[in-house]
Amino acid sequence: MIPFNENKELCSKCDGCCCKKVPGIFFPSDFDNLTKDILERMLRKRFWQVTFCGDENTYYIMPNVKNNRFCFNALPGGICVFLEKNKGCLLDFNFRPIQCRALVPSEGRCVKDMMSYEKEDYIKAWNTPKYQKLIRDTINAIGLFTKL
Ligand code: SF4
Ligand code: SF4
Repeated sequence: MIPFNENKELCSKCDGCCCKKVPGIFFPSDFDNLTKDILERMLRKRFWQVTFCGDENTYYIMPNVKNNRFCFNALPGGICVFLEKNKGCLLDFNFRPIQCRALVPSEGRCVKDMMSYEKEDYIKAWNTPKYQKLIRDTINAIGLFTKL
């Protein structure tokens, strides 16, 4: 169980630095029951994106970035779509990706903590035949080069 790590005071001072670099990553456990239909709807709304990493090109899901109009993004860095000027993250704490919830705001080092978040953990969590097929089938159904 991740504690309530939100600290609006500190985060508003640095103006959402981490959320401007790259959105946090979801784990499959962030979703109750992820199906192809649900994922397709999420991606078509342009609030979410699929990307990949690791030796096996493991697909995973994260919030979209403001300039991406496709369901897939090989370079997912940029400003998170949920970051709003002067308001911070628009998502309730419990609906944020696990990587965002786990980050403890602190002076000077939380961006570094986020970037070095245990990559193997999320690769391992997503790298199952079930999730890889679900994501692959969904982005193929939408079309990698279809503008949303
Ligand atoms: S978590 Fe850290 S880097 Fe991110 S907005 Fe808050 S203080 Fe800034
Ligand atoms: S979901 Fe919220 S906390 Fe996470 S990167 Fe986006 S704006 Fe920041």
